[in-house]
Amino acid sequence: MDCIFCKISKKLIETELIYEDEYIMGFKDIRPQAKVHLVFISKEHIESADHINLENSHIVGRMFQVIAKISSHYNLQRGYRIITNIGEDGGQEIRHFHLHIIGGEPLKKEIN
Ligand code: 5GP
Ligand code: ZN
Repeated sequence: MDCIFCKISKKLIETELIYEDEYIMGFKDIRPQAKVHLVFISKEHIESADHINLENSHIVGRMFQVIAKISSHYNLQRGYRIITNIGEDGGQEIRHFHLHIIGGEPLKKEIN
């Protein structure tokens, strides 16, 4: 198994875990791009948001629900950004579906 996020979901790689349930895990990004940078992954291997379907979309719903609930504990009360990179042009380095939660400071409105 080469997938880093599958290894994290099986606890073969340690992270600063902030949330876990039967479907998802949330942890601090190892290379933060802002004062707050969290990552939420699906426990099951889904390649990207481009592979969300009727069978697995509850995982995405769970992620958004949990992020809304925990955001106030991570200095995100003034707002934040949720990003998901898809494929090569989207700059997705780890081909396992995940959401970036970025904030803790005012963010620039840049595409790149
Ligand atoms: P992508 O470019 O695929 O959308 O984002 C992958 C993210 O995962 C990057 O922001 C990177 O810093 C983060 N990351 C990669 N490997 C690890 C790791 O082993 N632990 C943690 N906590 N984050 C990781
Ligand atoms: Zn995986």
